[in-house]
Amino acid sequence: MALLDSSGIRKVFDLAASMKNPINLSIGQPDFDVPGPVKDAAIEAIRQGRNRYTVTQGIPELHQALRKWLAAEKGLDPEALLITSGVSGALMLAFLVTVNPGDEVIIPDPYFVMYKHLVNLCGGKPVFVDTYPDFAVTAERLEPHLTRKTRLILLNSPANPTGAVIPQKELARIAALAKGRGALLVSDEIYDLFTYGEPTRSVGALYSNTLVMGGFSKSHAMTGWRVGYVAGPKEIVQEMTKLQQFSFVCAPSFAQFAALKALETDTRGYRDVYRRKCDTIYNGLLRAGYQVRQPGGAFYIFPKVPWGSDHEFVAEAIRNELLIIPGSVFSEKATHVRISYAASDVTIARGLEVLRNLIEQGPPKK
Ligand code: PLP
Repeated sequence: MALLDSSGIRKVFDLAASMKNPINLSIGQPDFDVPGPVKDAAIEAIRQGRNRYTVTQGIPELHQALRKWLAAEKGLDPEALLITSGVSGALMLAFLVTVNPGDEVIIPDPYFVMYKHLVNLCGGKPVFVDTYPDFAVTAERLEPHLTRKTRLILLNSPANPTGAVIPQKELARIAALAKGRGALLVSDEIYDLFTYGEPTRSVGALYSNTLVMGGFSKSHAMTGWRVGYVAGPKEIVQEMTKLQQFSFVCAPSFAQFAALKALETDTRGYRDVYRRKCDTIYNGLLRAGYQVRQPGGAFYIFPKVPWGSDHEFVAEAIRNELLIIPGSVFSEKATHVRISYAASDVTIARGLEVLRNLIEQGPPKK
């Protein structure tokens, strides 16, 4: 536990506690609510008494529907499937089951903050692959970091915090690399709905030794309901199921029934809204003079700070009522900030105004 550090984010929220009318661009979840039919399905499930433990692996109806969806949307026909308590649950089980002390885990940097901590918890060694300044995760960048101790390679596309998407051609190169080295891939596809350019299929369709993870937290705003899944090789998913039996027990029962409804509930309209918001914030940042890459998905953008460290810049942003997250929470570098545009147009416009002022005014006089 001593290796797990949450001080970076805590500092920000301590500062934020004093804000009266914050412009909150820090949130890692959609700003829309769970679609009505999905809420109804959850309520109905509760009324019908679906309130008990389910089988560990998840209800058969959801398995069946999810398999169909995975085949149609991702080209997957996995050996095994497990319904988990969100992708977080899937990640926790996957690392506990696969990572032994001393094993190396390849993590493209910037990364979703949980990866590093879970690897450390298991006694593994996170091996960070620097993807600055364009955040492209490529086989060429990964390859020099693979050793005999490499246990698994983490992929997250579309990515938190950069919004970067790995193109289909590159997925094929990464799959070939992993195959050549016998490394397990873990592909966190939680932002799959929010892909703005060419849609990609899952890397799991190219390489069977892949754990594909996804869920309903982002696509259907069900973050508090805790449902996700992992699909992949039988021998690993079976072990994860065994551990789920002795830890999470099962994903929340009513939420599994709601997820069944969610699979039928089209939320692609939200993607189009976020695509437009992405353009607004990207163009606004560019015009203001920020160095920034255009995201290909998710709902984050990751510009370089124009002066100072990420924490100095965020402290000044917070003094101006703007809440954003220092990049070093997601990275070994302290040069960028994460901005979430899962917010109203008015909030985004107010945020852009503060960001313009921050670049014009420069660092505070000491
Ligand atoms: N993976 C990534 C990349 C995320 O950004 C998040 C949440 O922010 C998660 C996983 C966790 O998702 P869940 O709510 O399904 O546990």
